[in-house]
Amino acid sequence: MKSTNNASPAQARKQTHLEEFDLVILGGGTGSTVAAWTFAGEGNRVAVVDRQYIGGSCPNIACLPSKNIIHSAKVASYFRRSKEFGITHDGFTIEMSGVRERKRRMVRGLNDMYMENYRNTGAEFILGSGRFVAPRTVEVTLADGTRRQLRGANVIVSTGTRAALETIPGLAEAQPLTHIEALELDEIPARLLVIGGGYVGVEMSQAMRRFGSEVTIVDSNGRLMSKEDPDVCKALGGLLADEGIDVHLNARIKRVSGKSGDSVTIIVEQNGTEKVLQGTHILVATGRNPNTEGLGLELTGVELTERGYLKVNERLQTTAPGVWAIGEVAGSPQFTHISVDDFRVVHANLTGGNRVTTGRQVPYCLFTDPELARIGLSETEAKTQGTAYRLFKVPMESNLRARTLSETRGFVKALVEADSDRILGFTAFGVGAGETLAAVQVAMIAGLPYTGLRDAVLTHPTLAEGLIPLFSSTASAHNLVKTKGA
Ligand SMILES: Cc1cc2nc3c(=O)[nH]c(=O)nc-3n(C[C@H](O)[C@H](O)[C@H](O)COP(=O)(O)OP(=O)(O)OC[C@H]3O[C@@H](n4cnc5c(N)ncnc54)[C@H](O)[C@@H]3O)c2cc1C
Repeated sequence: MKSTNNASPAQARKQTHLEEFDLVILGGGTGSTVAAWTFAGEGNRVAVVDRQYIGGSCPNIACLPSKNIIHSAKVASYFRRSKEFGITHDGFTIEMSGVRERKRRMVRGLNDMYMENYRNTGAEFILGSGRFVAPRTVEVTLADGTRRQLRGANVIVSTGTRAALETIPGLAEAQPLTHIEALELDEIPARLLVIGGGYVGVEMSQAMRRFGSEVTIVDSNGRLMSKEDPDVCKALGGLLADEGIDVHLNARIKRVSGKSGDSVTIIVEQNGTEKVLQGTHILVATGRNPNTEGLGLELTGVELTERGYLKVNERLQTTAPGVWAIGEVAGSPQFTHISVDDFRVVHANLTGGNRVTTGRQVPYCLFTDPELARIGLSETEAKTQGTAYRLFKVPMESNLRARTLSETRGFVKALVEADSDRILGFTAFGVGAGETLAAVQVAMIAGLPYTGLRDAVLTHPTLAEGLIPLFSSTASAHNLVKTKGA
């Protein structure tokens, strides 16, 4: 993939104002970062442009900061439960500034580590705002107003998404928190109103509740995490209820008044009745919008989909020659591990291979406590497709490690193909669900029958060992008639 231009960035700027690179990456998220290090490590001249974050959202304002804060909230929950473990103490205080400082320390450490990797691999990180000014040519405006023009033999666009703000009267004026501001709070919101019961809303709600906020979730769907199976949504709802979180479902917000950080009121309509919800802060967590404005895409021939994402084929090529897109702006599932896999797809396709995004596994985890993790088919999906399956399902109480931890809430379930022993899907709502998921995923990748896990010698007592009672339990058959008739 190497180009032949050997001019240093400074020389190129002086001579032509156009700097030549093998690869220019616009937007420096996780997939971009790994792409930069890999391609540069392979001897290519690579530049990454990001307007704000070294490493993009994941290490700065999304996955890792939220998991850091969630862990502090877990410590608070242990303090509350300490008597159960035979440990008493004279009260405790939550200092949000200390919680925030631990998170900030982690982010600083990650930024340092990323910059070190940039130095080691030779990829150039450019802090500035970028936009296309010609095909495969990105102009970057640096903080001091200086401009640089970078032309790539190939360009990857990965500008990500941002929190969506619904057009609800009064909402924008209320200056609601998004996850970015919520993760930077140095005070505990006395009464937090959360709009949206998806990943971000649910994770943040539980954490804030554990810090001491009174939390109310409002969602227009009939269920939290509405794409999950009904038993999963019910269990999640039970968890939030037990923690004292007030959840309003099927609730349409009519208007908002006041200002977040001070006093806010939300008027909702729920089943034909109007309700007034009062809070001190509002957090919006109702989806994401792609960052495509002002990118000059029209100058490059990069088209958008109807939903406003970059139009890509299964090899992640955009409609412009030599321009690729990865991560959320390409409409990929909104997870960091997917943005990294998108990089792998582009890497293969730029180095003589042929790799596609279709048919890949999309595992995910909701980092509530306990976690919810899933891979493959859910029961709802299997039923919709008419796929016959055997269902193995056991409560977390069957997991001996969970008992040692006093963390027996939840269940695990697996779908196995009716007429073979192939694992079709796995869902865990329980302690360490995300880690246990990986073991099942590896089995699925290897094409191991469920009996391979059932009969494995797994370390005792570990959470993964709980797969043995799961797959040793009696399965129930589902959808058999439908499939026979198909
Ligand atoms: C609160 C929260 C928690 C999450 N937790 C998880 C989790 O636990 N696990 C998980 O897998 N996923 C999680 N996600 C999703 C995950 O963060 C993203 O899917 C992941 O970061 C991939 O994003 P990306 O690379 O597409 O974009 P980003 O990482 O957002 O990168 C895009 C970059 O482009 C830059 N940019 C945009 N426009 C320009 C421009 N014109 N010029 C220069 N730079 C520009 C931005 O500054 C940004 O750094 C979470 C998301 C949120 C909001």
